[in-house]
Amino acid sequence: MTRSALLEISAVNKFYANLHVLKGVSLEVPEGTVACLLGPSGSGKSTLLRCINHLESIDAGRITMSGQTLAYEERDGQMHERPRAKIDRQRQDIGMVFQHFNLFPHYTVLQNITLAPTLLKKSRKANVTAQAMELLDKVGLANKHNAYPSALSGGQQQRVAIARALAMHPKVMLFDEPTSALDPELVAEVLKVMKDLAQGGMTMIVVTHEMAFAREVADSVVVMDAGVIIESGTPGEVFDNPQHERTREFLRHVR
Ligand code: ADP
Ligand code: MG
Repeated sequence: MTRSALLEISAVNKFYANLHVLKGVSLEVPEGTVACLLGPSGSGKSTLLRCINHLESIDAGRITMSGQTLAYEERDGQMHERPRAKIDRQRQDIGMVFQHFNLFPHYTVLQNITLAPTLLKKSRKANVTAQAMELLDKVGLANKHNAYPSALSGGQQQRVAIARALAMHPKVMLFDEPTSALDPELVAEVLKVMKDLAQGGMTMIVVTHEMAFAREVADSVVVMDAGVIIESGTPGEVFDNPQHERTREFLRHVR
């Protein structure tokens, strides 16, 4: 059985002024699968994630989720940005976790998680709080709900950031080097949460340099270089038998 693509990225192009950063990137992420995105610094990985949740506009191509075009609609044969309210609703289906956790420093852990659902989903406060506590339990931090971010380790803060993204019930989670800013001894606890999430069926795109994680958890490994996907396949295919010299070179550096 082939699984339908939850997220479909088709011939996406992105420029920053004259700099052509994404050069016709196409990628399908089936529902319930994990794609690990690898590639050297500056290859466009972050830009691709930022385009998916429309933190950045795209200049050509199309990104669809569940068959619906994200952020743009076609009129008179041209793509136009959708109304802000519609984009905001679509973006609620896309959770993002950044390298720097960006928690709100003046809110407690629990408040960090309940803020957006309270503002945007307008569920009853008691339900939002109960769900936030469940998520905190899931990331192993139920006992920290009243702590402020500054009292937590980097690994704990990143787990709160993951819980915060999950609180919006996203259909897909995007991770941009979620462990790159962490002390080495804190990396495993965050990867464990991500692995649990993957095993629970979450659809994920993960930019990472953690090759062991990619090998174990990814359904597909996608290698970018200079704005182009140069290679993709199963972890076995890409790691054990890379086709592209640039992939071999990249793997030599991260191993
Ligand atoms: P990666 O995440 O793979 O390291 P990025 O997507 O961050 O790559 O960057 C791709 C290219 O786009 C780089 O050349 C980078 O300098 C450039 N770039 C990224 N963000 C911006 C921006 N906001 N304005 C101009 N150039 C940018
Ligand atoms: Mg990046």
